[in-house]
Amino acid sequence: MSSASSPSIAAPSAQEVAAHRELWLSVLRLIESKVQRSQFLTWFKDTAVLGRDGGKLVVGLPLPMALHWHMEHYRSITLECAQEIDEGVTQVVYVVDGGLKDNPERAPNLLDHFPEPKKRKLPGRQEVKMAEGIVSKILNPLYTLENFVVGGSNRLAHAACQAVTVQPGGRYNPLFLYGGVGLGKTHLLQATGNAILKNMPRAAVVYTTTEDFTNQVIEAIRSQKMDKLRYRYRKVDALIIDDVQFLANKERTQEEFFHTFNALYEDRKQVILSADRPPQELNLEDRLISRFERGMIADVGVPDYETRLAILVEKARAYELFIDMNVLQFIAEHTTRNVRELEGILMQAVALYELEERMPTIRSIAEIMRKLNKDPHVEEEDVGFEQPVKRAPTFQDVLEAVSRYFSVSVQDMIGASRVREILIPRQIAMFLGKKYLRMSYVHLGEMFSNRDHTTVMNAVAKIEEKMQNDPQLLREVRAIERELGMV
Ligand code: ADP
Ligand code: MG
Repeated sequence: MSSASSPSIAAPSAQEVAAHRELWLSVLRLIESKVQRSQFLTWFKDTAVLGRDGGKLVVGLPLPMALHWHMEHYRSITLECAQEIDEGVTQVVYVVDGGLKDNPERAPNLLDHFPEPKKRKLPGRQEVKMAEGIVSKILNPLYTLENFVVGGSNRLAHAACQAVTVQPGGRYNPLFLYGGVGLGKTHLLQATGNAILKNMPRAAVVYTTTEDFTNQVIEAIRSQKMDKLRYRYRKVDALIIDDVQFLANKERTQEEFFHTFNALYEDRKQVILSADRPPQELNLEDRLISRFERGMIADVGVPDYETRLAILVEKARAYELFIDMNVLQFIAEHTTRNVRELEGILMQAVALYELEERMPTIRSIAEIMRKLNKDPHVEEEDVGFEQPVKRAPTFQDVLEAVSRYFSVSVQDMIGASRVREILIPRQIAMFLGKKYLRMSYVHLGEMFSNRDHTTVMNAVAKIEEKMQNDPQLLREVRAIERELGMV
């Protein structure tokens, strides 16, 4: 593939599009072998090579949300893989292009090109084979103890998990977490597994659901390999079983679990369990219940308002969403049942953000909630004018905020002047317009005295790069963002 001498992003010919697509497929093939499949499918869906500008490979991403994630996690892998295909590539830059969504002509369909490998195990499960044939579900790396928001409702549970990661098989063994649906039990269990593995990379940590465990027992009974199953489980350093309430009425599985539990316990191996209710209320054999009660029992309750709000802030941050604080407060006030529901509303807000290219407002969120019928108590007056409903910033607001901050005039900023003092403010305004208001490069170019869209692209990329290396600039941008209510 020859490198284009001029930026070919403007209007690539059909041939160029095809060549870019081929190049990207080759790169994707290498990337696929290096990252987890689920991650690959999530983050490389609807991506494409948009162009070459000398050594720069311009990679298109379908969503702004993906930008930060790619820069943090995939930029170097992508560069490495691209260089394997074409050593002329020296840099990977990203551009968000909504037109890549569901457009297989431009962005290869991953499932077509990278079909699911033949399954050996139960379909649809992500599993890892551990030593000696033990199977564990893959721990979701996004569940960590650090990103679990702690409040009164879950403080004890979180602290117990933390203690277990410091000393597995110690005082808090078994650790039993209980609480209602969607309150964070699975998050805590997996986070604890992740943390144990981080501290002790060679430990055999098995995370499984009661359903999976039961299936294994049934299969072992069928194939008369019960001894083998027992032997395997006893080699585990930490056994994490989610939702043990489902052991009810499964006598044989309970019995097997009882023996496994005892063996692990005596070997001072850590066992972590969750259920939807405390041990004594479980419909299980008494001897099992009394085992569960031996260690540490902690409940995970419904988070209070402050915790709900903190969770929303954390999730919005993780998704790279910049939602007005008033909106988050509104969601936290009106969504009280569980955290999964909170996330659901937030995801709706993302959709709004993506589809309609506007910042969610209290009014639009209330509308969503009413449609989902999540909260019948959301009345019109709740979203009325007594509430300080903050209008989502417009581009004029951005220009004015930047102008105030740097004491330069809006006229100069959007004008043709190339005076140095104007450059950074102008680039920051372009960056904010792109990042928060989703303005296209072309449109932004027009706003700045009809500059070329590549100029805007470079400006935005420059600010993004500087924000990583220049703490002063980062602080300045953050201050303006705060002023605009963007963080
Ligand atoms: P459960 O297993 O109790 O039904 P989950 O662990 O699946 O609940 O939690 C549902 C969702 O809520 C998950 O996405 C989880 O990350 C999130 N969640 C719950 N509690 C918290 C918390 N305190 N901090 C951050 N995220 C949370
Ligand atoms: Mg769960």
